[in-house]
Amino acid sequence: MMKYVTGLRCTVCDTIYSPQAVKYHCPTCGPVGTLDVIYDYAAITAEFTRAALKADPERSMWRYRPLLPVREDSPLPPLTVGWTPLYPAHRLASELGMTALWVKDDGRNPTASLKDRASAMAVVKAREDGADVITTASTGNAAAALAGLAASVGFQNVIFVPADAPKAKIAQLLVYGSTVLLVKGSYDQAFDLCMQASERYGWYLRNTGVNPYMTEGKKTAAYEIAEQLDWDVPDYVVVGVGDGCIIGGLHKGFADLLELGWIGRMPRLIGVQAEGSSPLYRAWAAGIEAKDMEPVEAHTIADSICAGLPRDRVKAMRAVRETDGAFVSVSDEEILAAIPLLAQTTGVFAEPAGAAPLAGLRRALEDGIIRADARVVILATGSGLKDIAGAMKSVGAGYEIEPTMDAVERVMEEIGGHAPGNGAG
Ligand SMILES: *Cc1c(COP(=O)(O)O)cnc(C)c1O
Ligand SMILES: [Zn+2]
Repeated sequence: MMKYVTGLRCTVCDTIYSPQAVKYHCPTCGPVGTLDVIYDYAAITAEFTRAALKADPERSMWRYRPLLPVREDSPLPPLTVGWTPLYPAHRLASELGMTALWVKDDGRNPTASLKDRASAMAVVKAREDGADVITTASTGNAAAALAGLAASVGFQNVIFVPADAPKAKIAQLLVYGSTVLLVKGSYDQAFDLCMQASERYGWYLRNTGVNPYMTEGKKTAAYEIAEQLDWDVPDYVVVGVGDGCIIGGLHKGFADLLELGWIGRMPRLIGVQAEGSSPLYRAWAAGIEAKDMEPVEAHTIADSICAGLPRDRVKAMRAVRETDGAFVSVSDEEILAAIPLLAQTTGVFAEPAGAAPLAGLRRALEDGIIRADARVVILATGSGLKDIAGAMKSVGAGYEIEPTMDAVERVMEEIGGHAPGNGAG
């Protein structure tokens, strides 16, 4: 039994189910009826405090174990997931005319993206479920995370990814020993195929949106932001949005802390979508309910936020509306430009979807959605090493030279004797 979990509530029809009776989405509403895990907060506060946390040397997401939906006797995977650094970004802030800006670097997770937080949870839940095989569909990172976490405990897994996912992500899957199905189609198609296969073979399903526990893994990023700022939450948290699970997780995390009385108010959540994959932005702007959204074609260089039918759309829309936040949409060019800007002002190298929040922040400042004197956290969700081809599009090519000092001098003359400068870029 999970000590403090009292049920699973459908986000669409509000029906409450027992976790023993329902594994994934609401049986009445179907996959759009994603479930919230509900807790007995009074019981938690009686036994778990901020002071206890402060004294706890555990430096991973599992420091919040009483707030997570796992059985007390469940073994946890050995990889260190979470407790990623929150860096003050002074130079980036002044570049943007801001006063208080932080970057949380979730590329520091074991498989180099925030998805490890959910996949660590998936591995624990699959074992509790008595499953032999876990499966997921993914644009790449959720799969890499599942592959790595599953490998850490020797759990068999089957992965559905679009065949055109970035090479580094596919390499992770193969090296970790997953069974890798490279779907000649979109993420949305890979997702539907994975759902069917899971039903046919009885595999445990990690899929975003469908599995209610993924939100619970991702919410730990919100706990960490609050704790790392000594419970004085920022005005805004800005994050890239594809399926909407991360932003929904942030919302759940801050809402938990508010229920516990550990924070005094909710930060406003800003979801950043790529122009070519912005169904949530468009539905939000048009006042359309998430449950009424229809699938659209999606294209963007930021593969991790490419989703034509965001699977966690109900939680994502609620996160923005209930926190009085906003969705913004940015072009691929703006996303690409944000990669070197983030790297050169903070030292954090993010993949396109991980740099998208910075592009979104610039847009939100310009549009007056965020004021320059607000306290803002941007969530860099994945490492730049995940997608070298994307990164190289955002910078010059460097100078290829003969191995002579003459050649070095010619380059120094060309760039005026001082770095940086990398040719046309
Ligand atoms: C998955 C992912 C996102 C988007 O998360 P959603 O839950 O799909 O909205 C953003 N950035 C990176 C690096 C990701 O892997
Ligand atoms: Zn329902």
